[in-house]
Amino acid sequence: MDQEILYLDTEFKKIITEKHRYQKNEKKSSWYRCVNRKCGALFNLESMERNKVEHYHPSLTNCEIDCIMFFKQLVQNVISDHDIPLIDAYNRQYQKLIAKYSYNEIVEHWKPFTVIKSNLRYHRNQTKPNNPKQVKDIQINEIYSTLNSQQFLQFDNKDNNNRILILMTPIGMKILSNSKRWHFDGSFKTCPTHFLQIFSVHGYYQNQMYPACYILLQNKERETYVEALTKMKEILTGNNDNRFTRNTL
Ligand SMILES: [Zn+2]
Repeated sequence: MDQEILYLDTEFKKIITEKHRYQKNEKKSSWYRCVNRKCGALFNLESMERNKVEHYHPSLTNCEIDCIMFFKQLVQNVISDHDIPLIDAYNRQYQKLIAKYSYNEIVEHWKPFTVIKSNLRYHRNQTKPNNPKQVKDIQINEIYSTLNSQQFLQFDNKDNNNRILILMTPIGMKILSNSKRWHFDGSFKTCPTHFLQIFSVHGYYQNQMYPACYILLQNKERETYVEALTKMKEILTGNNDNRFTRNTL
C-alpha cells in the first residue's frame, strides 16, 4: 500500500506520515527527523523507509492531523482570497472541524481566532502588493484581477504613458451584451491615484439601468476614448452573449 505523505509547507520541509510529524534534516538530505527532538526516529522520503528507532511518544490523532491541515488550508484561503474577512475564513474551517469532532477534541489543537488573527493578517499582508508610486508600478496580479473568483480585469494595455484598464464582471458583460441602450459617465473626483477618471458604462437591461463596466483612464483625449471603447467592443463581441453589441456600438 502506498504510504500517504502530507506536506505542511511549500518547500516540503515539514511532513506528516504514519501519523507522525517530521521535518527535513538538511537541505540536500532526503532524511526527515521526528519533530520531537528527543525522539530520534527518522524517515526517508526517497526510499520511504524508516530507521530502526521507534517513536517513544504517542502518534497524532486524526483530529490533530485535521487541525493541522485545516489551519494550513485557512492560511491558503486568506492568501488567495483577499476579500473574505479573516473571521469568516476562520469560521469556515472551524465549522468543518466541529462537524467531525467534539469541541473537547478540537480545543486542544485548534487555537481561538483572537490568538491567530495577527498571524493570519501577517500572511495576508505578505501577499498584498505595495501602493504604486508611479504608473509602471501598477502590476495587477491574479488575486486582484478577479472578483468573487470571476475575472474582473478584462484588459490592461500596459502602456505607462496612457494606461487603460477595463474592469467588467461576467454579469456586467452579459448586461451590456443584452442592452439596446448604453449610458456613459465619467467620474473625475473619486478616482484612483495615477488616473484622471473612472469612465463607466451602464446598460439599460430589463427596464433598469445597471453600471456594468468601469474603465480607468489617464486623460480625456478623443484617441483614448476610441482605444478604450474599441477594446471594450472587442471583449464583448469575443463573448458568446453578443446579440446587440454590434448594433449598439
Ligand atoms: Zn518521534
